[in-house]
Amino acid sequence: MPDGTLKRLRAGMQGPTPPKAPKVPSDGTVGVVTQARSRRAWAEIDLDAITHNARVLSRLVRPATLCAVVKAHGYGHGAVSVARATLTGGALGLAVALVDEGVELRQNNVHGPILLLSECGADAVDAAMAYGLTPTVYTAEGIAQFAQAARMLGQRTSVHIKVDTGMHRVGAAPADVPALVRALVEDPLLRFEGLWTHFPVADGDSAEDRAFTVRQLALFDGAIADLARADVHPDVIHAANTAGAIVFPQARYGMVRCGIGLYGYLPGDTVGAAFSTAAGGQHLRPALSLRARVVSVRTLAEGERPSYGRMRALPQRSVVATVPIGYADGVPRALFSNGAHVLIGGRRRPLAGMVTMDQIMVDCEEDTSVQPGDEVVLLGRQGDEEITADEWAGLLGTISYEILCGIGPRVPRVVINAPEPTGGSITPPIP
Ligand SMILES: *Cc1c(COP(=O)(O)O)cnc(C)c1O
Repeated sequence: MPDGTLKRLRAGMQGPTPPKAPKVPSDGTVGVVTQARSRRAWAEIDLDAITHNARVLSRLVRPATLCAVVKAHGYGHGAVSVARATLTGGALGLAVALVDEGVELRQNNVHGPILLLSECGADAVDAAMAYGLTPTVYTAEGIAQFAQAARMLGQRTSVHIKVDTGMHRVGAAPADVPALVRALVEDPLLRFEGLWTHFPVADGDSAEDRAFTVRQLALFDGAIADLARADVHPDVIHAANTAGAIVFPQARYGMVRCGIGLYGYLPGDTVGAAFSTAAGGQHLRPALSLRARVVSVRTLAEGERPSYGRMRALPQRSVVATVPIGYADGVPRALFSNGAHVLIGGRRRPLAGMVTMDQIMVDCEEDTSVQPGDEVVLLGRQGDEEITADEWAGLLGTISYEILCGIGPRVPRVVINAPEPTGGSITPPIP
């Protein structure tokens, strides 16, 4: 085979030079596709809304401080940009579930305290120390691992202890707390910084739920009092998630850990009502909208049954628009079965058939004005209409959290209204 042919073959295998990606202010942190390149579906993240929500929540809980929970890629919004936006809005610290999530923040120059919400595995202890993450512990082994790493690295670390007062997921039993605290305060390289707990039903609407949270608070106060008798006083005590911070002022202690509220959602009616009372007319703003563009339009006869399963007969001759986003992107199939709508041209439109992996079909009825390139809103506002993650959650029997976190990694996150760069440093709350 002549040299030239081989060269051409090799060149062919490498394929043509990919076109330069358009400059999209993408967060770059969520998932595998971070450029809007040829994708005609995207999630728009309004960082100004996040900053606003952080500001509203940090004012509401004063003098307690706000720790912004940015686990799970900032509830699907993109952890790095969300972290910066919350710090701009007055959060004084961040919390994540995994060491890797904290490392991602540090590698993107996010400074300030980052609390790990669960004890990490032994293999992650060194990374947690190296990146200056604040561990939570609740076992003697957990403390021993950090003590050993601190000695190896010749580095001190602050540590929080978590008490299980009724969530029964992770945490030390109240009776075990004094011994754990003793192990911490006796080690010169470990600093006992925080004591905390977590609520399973702070968002509950029933008297029983309310009573349960109150009992948890009593147990937690007991653990605090036990330490005080031994003259041990943690710098920061915290218990409340978004619901706890809003519904139970006595649960705010020195700091609250808010997640969902930062993203513009409140978990349930009781929380919503308590927020309205406490926030003096202020509102939280959903920060994420899920958008796409129509790629194809066809007119189908009455009775045609688009998509897999041929589930639904068109009730009339209809314009059907195909939109390139599907269940692989976090648009659940059950949305079709449960009668979800999308917005095109500021109007609500039903799905014409089953959600597929990569695409949906929308029934635009007699509306021949719908054209390829038209914007489709799956979540968010268009004209006077709005579809929220709560609306989807209601249709699907779940909660807004799962909808937001479920938006898939191949949906580019496009950031709008970014705050002035702060270099990731903690900026004081804007008065
Ligand atoms: C996720 C989480 C939070 C945040 O809860 P929201 O309901 O989103 O405010 C707070 N604390 C812990 C321990 C969590 O795991």
